[in-house]
Amino acid sequence: MSNEDYFADVRNSGDLAGFGVFDGEGIKDHNSAPVKRSPNNDGMIYTIKCGNCGAPHNITVSWLEFIYGGHGHIPIDPETKRPWKHEQQFGGFHPNMGCKQCSNALLFIITPDECARHLKAAQAAGAITPQQIAAVASQLRQQAAAYRR
Ligand SMILES: [Zn+2]
Repeated sequence: MSNEDYFADVRNSGDLAGFGVFDGEGIKDHNSAPVKRSPNNDGMIYTIKCGNCGAPHNITVSWLEFIYGGHGHIPIDPETKRPWKHEQQFGGFHPNMGCKQCSNALLFIITPDECARHLKAAQAAGAITPQQIAAVASQLRQQAAAYRR
């Protein structure tokens, strides 16, 4: 794996320490965010509440992001081009976005296993083909090889 560079800024930032929302029950809530396939079949929609002000959010995670996440790469938001945030202590990551109402960071953990599970379901439903997934996975492997040079 050559993901170390992606994680370095997260590890060094120290900004995770202050997130009381990760205490106890909070993390369970984030892990059980209701999720359903998007109406136009381009990904999954997570329904979450802002941990700070309670504002509801529907966050669409694209198949592309699940392919990255399911192959051990930090997903990149295709719209904002921002990499997701890795939360090492929870073994997962989440889109790097803030609440529209209070701009608090929106925290819900998606694990690589969960990415792989959604991709499997998407293939079974014909939303994405194994060839599409293989093509992206192959690109990711080439990029990873390039980073090692
Ligand atoms: Zn909020």
